[in-house]
Amino acid sequence: MKRDINLVVLLLSVIFFSLASLTLWKVMASREHALEEINTHGLNLSQALSTYSEGIVRQSSLLLLGLVERLETEGSGPRQIERLSQLVSRQQPLMPQLSGVTVYSKDGLWLMSSNQPSQTGANSSDLVYFIHHRDNPSREPFVGLPIRSSANQEWVITISRRFDDAAGQFAGVVAVTLGVENFLRLFGQIDVGSDGAIGLFYTDGSMLVRYPFREQDMGRNFSNSPIYAKYLVDRSVGTASYTSSLDGVERLYAYRKSDKLPLVTTVALGKREALAAWQFEAKLSVLLVCGLLLLTGGIGWLLIRAMLRRSLVEDELRVAQQQLLDSNEQLERLAMHDALTGLANRRNFDDTLTQEASRARRSGNALSLMMIDIDHFKRYNDSYGHLAGDDCLQQVASRLSACMRRPPDLLARYGGEEFAAILPDADSAGAATVARTILEYLGNEPIIHRDSPFAQVTVSIGIAYASGSDLETVQVLIARADQALYIAKNTGRNRLHIA
Ligand code: GH3
Ligand code: MG
Ligand code: MG
Repeated sequence: MKRDINLVVLLLSVIFFSLASLTLWKVMASREHALEEINTHGLNLSQALSTYSEGIVRQSSLLLLGLVERLETEGSGPRQIERLSQLVSRQQPLMPQLSGVTVYSKDGLWLMSSNQPSQTGANSSDLVYFIHHRDNPSREPFVGLPIRSSANQEWVITISRRFDDAAGQFAGVVAVTLGVENFLRLFGQIDVGSDGAIGLFYTDGSMLVRYPFREQDMGRNFSNSPIYAKYLVDRSVGTASYTSSLDGVERLYAYRKSDKLPLVTTVALGKREALAAWQFEAKLSVLLVCGLLLLTGGIGWLLIRAMLRRSLVEDELRVAQQQLLDSNEQLERLAMHDALTGLANRRNFDDTLTQEASRARRSGNALSLMMIDIDHFKRYNDSYGHLAGDDCLQQVASRLSACMRRPPDLLARYGGEEFAAILPDADSAGAATVARTILEYLGNEPIIHRDSPFAQVTVSIGIAYASGSDLETVQVLIARADQALYIAKNTGRNRLHIA
């Protein structure tokens, strides 16, 4: 039973641990899968946004290239500037992101401005990009940090090129301004959740545009953030996960550095938000499995309880069975033995004698019967009392028992103060030896009997003997032994007589 319960406990443990580990494994795998999907999604988005931003910058620099070409071949006189202005006003509607084109002379004077004609003549020689081109012979376009437009105070990004005179000397700068608003409008159409963000940076970490828009971040340098400090060092595309030092939100970042242009696009999604669907599913799975485990545990508990109860009933049954066997044995002992002396009783004697007689008849072996009667026992009772008489009977019985040497011999209380001994395979001589032993033993271990002529308790013994072939009925054998006893009594007692 204990083994069965152990097996049930083992089975339940196996179910518990396999279900729990399987669920844990499934939940963790689906988390990995969800993260992978989010990263792929972020990378795709960053690819699309990077292409978009690159396209605008490229378009702008192509426009600039055309203008530079004209300014260098035709010069920057008032008539040429007028024609240039007409050309720009025709091109501008084709590029909705473009908010304006400005031409500066080599001293920083505004020669033309498509969206602020009134500013013509103003001086901007202190602008970063103007200084960059004036001091740098490179003819590559320059992407400047976002600034507030002096025309309408809107945030703009400038892309500029320098143009030279015929002698190859610096002659001025042409710049296009791109409204940050246009970028934000597009970025705003992409769902990045409430914790997400889209960013366009210069390769040195300076922020060009961020969605959602944050005034304080415009132009700010993020070169200390992990993306620049760690990830972009040796790769141009990838994903990262870290907690923002600005707002403490953990985000999943997809970043992409442009091949040709000094631009970096990042798409960030709030990790908690991005994993919300997974989290819900995981909680549901865990809840379901917990319920299942609870159910299994409950059933197991009921099973174990039923087994324990059964075991208890079985134990009780076993005890009751043993008690029954014991009392049966006791009953049997009572039925076959004399209560006072503990010797075989009359019934036992009758059965055994019948069995031994038929066995002797079959085998042809001898069978002896001995009738033993206590002498003057009535006087003993009269003299010492009935209780002392009982005690005397017990003492005589124990002395007689001590004289029975062979296992098949049976000593019985025949009735009253009379005993009988069945001696299988014993001829008259053997029986006589046993009888003599009894008489001697009683003499050597005396029980005082003051009213007996022998002054101690004695017995008379009658022996009947028959060999198997001439054995008649047991009654005849008993009668002969009785007869012999009668003779022993009449010839003086405390002796034996053989029939
Ligand atoms: P004898 O020498 O001729 O055998 O004389 P006796 O007195 O022994 O024989 P008798 O048959 O006259 O008396 C037998 C007595 O044994 C009578 C009876 O009171 C007593 N007796 C029989 N059974 C029991 C018993 O179980 N307990 C006691 N205390 N006495 C018993
Ligand atoms: Mg007697
Ligand atoms: Mg008698």
